[in-house]
Amino acid sequence: MLRQHLAMLLIEVQNGEDADVLRLARSETHRLVGAVLACLRAHVLAPSGSCTTCELPECLLRKEISLALLPVRPVLPNGG
Ligand SMILES: [Zn+2]
Repeated sequence: MLRQHLAMLLIEVQNGEDADVLRLARSETHRLVGAVLACLRAHVLAPSGSCTTCELPECLLRKEISLALLPVRPVLPNGG
């Protein structure tokens, strides 16, 4: 269900009319932020900074989210 909702959202944002995409962004952004925060609540960091869920020095979920949220770089004409 979550994957289906995210796929629908992505398709609508990429293909929808600007006015529809704006309405969708306003209604869905806070829900997406809430979903990410809910996921992060399960990955509490210990005082040492390690993740109590992943049981690793670096939380895998936080790393994945950070990578997904990196700014999009423009594609240069030479591909680099
Ligand atoms: Zn974690």
